[in-house]
Amino acid sequence: MRTTVDILGVPVDNVTMNEAVEIVESFLEKNKIHFVFTPNAEIMMAAQRDDQLKNILSSADLVVPDGAGVVLASKILKPVLKEKVAGFDLTHNLFYKFSNKNVNFFFLGGKPGVAEQARQKLLEKNININVVGIRDGYFSSDKDDEIINQINSSCTDILLVGLGAPKQEKWIYNNSNKLNVKVCIGVGGTFDGIAGIVKRAPSFFCNNGLEWLYRLYKEPRRFVRMLDLPKFILVVIAKKLR
Ligand code: UDP
Repeated sequence: MRTTVDILGVPVDNVTMNEAVEIVESFLEKNKIHFVFTPNAEIMMAAQRDDQLKNILSSADLVVPDGAGVVLASKILKPVLKEKVAGFDLTHNLFYKFSNKNVNFFFLGGKPGVAEQARQKLLEKNININVVGIRDGYFSSDKDDEIINQINSSCTDILLVGLGAPKQEKWIYNNSNKLNVKVCIGVGGTFDGIAGIVKRAPSFFCNNGLEWLYRLYKEPRRFVRMLDLPKFILVVIAKKLR
């Protein structure tokens, strides 16, 4: 039985990182496709303006809070989510869990060469997962069927889709009938992070809910997008007061 917390119409699973890893592991034993999404405050705010995105997030089998903003929202709305489960960390923990195991990953997304570089970095860290296919994320929709055939014919178990939000959520949802995989996870810029192209915030920022500040410093062009963070908290407070 899932325990979720309703955050502005999106059910977010109240799980720890370890529980999230176990849930994904349990999906591998079932004969159906599962969606895992990792919304942060920006995506939750985008879902307030985009009903299709809200429905897609709500249809997922596992939704984990990627950022401190979503956990803060649960502190206001109650019940409080157990912890932040960042998509980047969840993906890494799955790699550790399935290193040297018979679980097939497919990497879809990122600029050409980035996901290959990410795979190389994993090998350098002795993380030895089965990567059965890699495709960059810059393709037109007329290539969808060819990509899906490649995914299906490579016996993929876990498809990691890093096309950025909400593109990745919509791509997974719209193609779910054709995909023959056990788990699809929207991983945002995870391949960039693993490849070392985008530096992750130092632990001080992550541990104090300030990863957004570090990201803003590194990528100031995200400023307008990041205004959604305070807006999200204001909408949450307004909901609480109502
Ligand atoms: N990306 C992609 N195809 C696109 C647009 C973006 O593969 O058409 C990739 C981009 O190269 C980057 C990721 O999607 O690796 C987006 O990263 P970001 O950190 O912006 O993710 P978000 O915060 O939007 O989830």
